Amino acid sequence: MTMVRTCPSCEERVATGDVYCERCGHRVAAGLAGPPAPPAVPAPRDAAAADRGAGTDQGESTTAGTEVHTGPMPAVDPCTWCGAAVSAGYCNECGMSQPGDRDHVEVRAETAAGVSDRGLRHHRNEDAMAVLTSDDPAPVVVAVVCDGVSTSPHPEEAAHVAAETGAAVLADGLAAGSGPREATEAALAQAASAVAELAETEQAAPACTYVSAVVPADGGAITVGWVGDSRAYWLAGSPSATPSAVLTRDDSWSEAMVAMRVMTPAEARASAYAHALTAWLGADNAAGASGHVATVTPAGPGALVLCTDGLWNYFPDPGALCAAAPGAAADPLGAAQAYVRRALDAGGRDNITVVVIAVPGPQDGPGDDVRGSGGNAG
Ligand SMILES: [Zn+2]
Ligand SMILES: [Zn+2]
Repeated sequence: MTMVRTCPSCEERVATGDVYCERCGHRVAAGLAGPPAPPAVPAPRDAAAADRGAGTDQGESTTAGTEVHTGPMPAVDPCTWCGAAVSAGYCNECGMSQPGDRDHVEVRAETAAGVSDRGLRHHRNEDAMAVLTSDDPAPVVVAVVCDGVSTSPHPEEAAHVAAETGAAVLADGLAAGSGPREATEAALAQAASAVAELAETEQAAPACTYVSAVVPADGGAITVGWVGDSRAYWLAGSPSATPSAVLTRDDSWSEAMVAMRVMTPAEARASAYAHALTAWLGADNAAGASGHVATVTPAGPGALVLCTDGLWNYFPDPGALCAAAPGAAADPLGAAQAYVRRALDAGGRDNITVVVIAVPGPQDGPGDDVRGSGGNAG
């Protein structure tokens, strides 16, 4: 991971020492956010002060993933996860990035981890994620990943509100006795309302995508919910596990073209409209509030991965995504960090967010074949 300067006007890469952008001529010598890259890898991106983000109201049995942000820290502050010494923004013992700003965020729970990164071309990170664990009524990991729609106003706010609301409503619903599907539908609906409330007028409506997962810690049925083109993948952790698969179907123009057999997936992906959404969370898309819910029961071991298009653009095929970070179930944080590194190495054109949740092997609870049951929830 290297620090890359970008032009504040056109986002073109700018070489260290350049005074003007080679593409658009914008003066870039001053006013660029961030100090020059230190030699250490990975490098902190920004010198902004710590912002730990808004917490959610959690019941006593619900635990938020430890959220931290990359950034320079006083050397005396210990790791927020393991308490070991920290240098250059990363823990010396466990490798966890430490509080800084939203440009690079990592969350960690016992069997799950997430990494969100600004990427190399965008000025800010408009993705968001939330990871919660709960023991009530049974051990479960709940996660939400959202991608702010960059053509809407305040997309980063939409994504943040949707992820926090969705995860909190999911955990609360499960604790109150709702089934995973019912809780997933309620979380989606309340996240949609929360994003819609951000709109000052219908013409200025913040918008984002949404994908959620409910993963029982002991194995068993996994429930995913989504709107837009953020995805859930099942990644096989061994040859005997259920083969890797995409569990969601994008609400996108490309998906519609492929479904109508007008284009091949490759042709659709190459189109200028490839990323045009057909549904999203926002006051200007009431249809998005109903979303989709699917339940699958994969045979582990393996990993459930939630991600934004900043990752899957480079690894759309489940097999390729699985190969990009082998052993995801054994080391969710290491895998999430590796995925982000792979996307940055491939160009990092968009914000990148990925949550990896470990699913136990058959000795802990054998599963059936993947059984999809997608469709409109509402
Ligand atoms: Zn420029
Ligand atoms: Zn640590």
